[in-house]
Amino acid sequence: MHKLTLAEQLAGLAAKQFSSEELTLDYLARIERFDSRFNSYITLAPETALEAARAADAAYARGDAGALAGVPIAHKDLFCTAGIKTSCASKMLDNFVPPYDATLVSKLADAGVVMLGKTNMDEFAMGSSNETSFYGRARNPWGTDCVPGGSSGGSAAAVAAGLCAAATGSDTGGSIRQPAALCGITGLKPTYGRVSRYGMVAFASSLDQAGPMARTAEDCALLLQAMAGFDPRDSTSLDAPVPDYRATLNDSLEGLRIGLPKEYFGGALNPAMEAGVRTAIRELEQLGATVKEISLPHTGLAVPCYYVIAPAEASANLSRFDGVRYGYRCENPRDLYDLYTRTRAEGFGTEVKSRILIGTYALSAGYYDAYYRKAQQVRRLIRNDFVEAFKEVDVIAGPTTPNPAFCFDELSDPVTMYLEDIYTIAVNLAGLPALSLPAAFVGDKPAGLQLIGNYLSEARLLNIGHRFQQVTDWHQRRAPGLD
Ligand code: GLN
Repeated sequence: MHKLTLAEQLAGLAAKQFSSEELTLDYLARIERFDSRFNSYITLAPETALEAARAADAAYARGDAGALAGVPIAHKDLFCTAGIKTSCASKMLDNFVPPYDATLVSKLADAGVVMLGKTNMDEFAMGSSNETSFYGRARNPWGTDCVPGGSSGGSAAAVAAGLCAAATGSDTGGSIRQPAALCGITGLKPTYGRVSRYGMVAFASSLDQAGPMARTAEDCALLLQAMAGFDPRDSTSLDAPVPDYRATLNDSLEGLRIGLPKEYFGGALNPAMEAGVRTAIRELEQLGATVKEISLPHTGLAVPCYYVIAPAEASANLSRFDGVRYGYRCENPRDLYDLYTRTRAEGFGTEVKSRILIGTYALSAGYYDAYYRKAQQVRRLIRNDFVEAFKEVDVIAGPTTPNPAFCFDELSDPVTMYLEDIYTIAVNLAGLPALSLPAAFVGDKPAGLQLIGNYLSEARLLNIGHRFQQVTDWHQRRAPGLD
């Protein structure tokens, strides 16, 4: 049953070929059997999952099942789940059990999903490799000595290993698309504001966006349908109508104009990755698209710009973890100052601390103009590159990452790892939607094709992804050794 896509599982449930309880038990048994290899989950919720599964079965029997009733999914461990630990993979929140659900969690629950548990990630979503998790690394199902990507690496690994039908992720600089690419699954980063951030632990508020991770574009469409929409509790939420994402999946690609940014090819790009991505783009041409070269001249500034803005916002967001209200508190503080400083020194990991330091520095008087204001100006130039490009093309295509999954400890310094996000980060700075599709193999590791769309063009991106997946089988490949 785990080999079925989420859409196929829904059809099977509706036709009463199997029950949600059977499906849920099947996934729980697989997690038990395989997850010691991948460490993709931080917390499992078998009792509440089975309760939700039985409720879904009862809804099918009554004939009033919700749009996603009975399909087992997992949530990245930064979405608040009432009564279930939400750790953000940090010691700081190791004891945090939220009293409420994130909007995304409650919307998916209303649609009837079964939540199996909470997935592993980089601490506070800071990283590209899952190496910064307090709970140990999640591993790539295509080779456990390699990273699953990050920060939503646990979600990607769990989907790729068949340990859930689909999962949620968050993407601040690539954290849905990069792990999706490295694990051979499909991941969508929606337009900034399309999905509510209420109840999602904040990293960099002007960049963070939640989205779906699944086997196929169709599955992502089904999930986004339930996740998207205005939320009065999130002041950055977009009040725009939510289209029927599934209705346009089969639309023709005839006349679709694809732009290939010259800055995304050559340079840092692995030649085998380039060959694979170019072949994938030729498939889209076969389907009726036309291709032209474009330029996004400020591409090279995206990573440095992001590493001023994201840490600056993180340093402000993470100031709430002070040992007073919730989360970790150091033992026997001498006084208030000792409470604050020791709690934060003991509760945060190294990567998080270094980002807080960089961010605090960039925001401090005297440096604010030189770094933070300058980065905001560069951000506007990066956004304008896309605005210009979308006057000429409908969608921008390129690789999701310059290389396939790297191995643990392989990238010796953080800057080398930061540069692996070169194709994903600008999209967040501009607030645009982008889809990563499994589109090639480099050696024995999967590689992703990234499609970047204009604001609120999720339906078109999913349509292109779906048509691509009807004529290719990259999304059907299974990691070895998992039955
Ligand atoms: N890898 C990037 C970082 O480390 C992006 C992470 C993310 O999107 N959450 O910040």
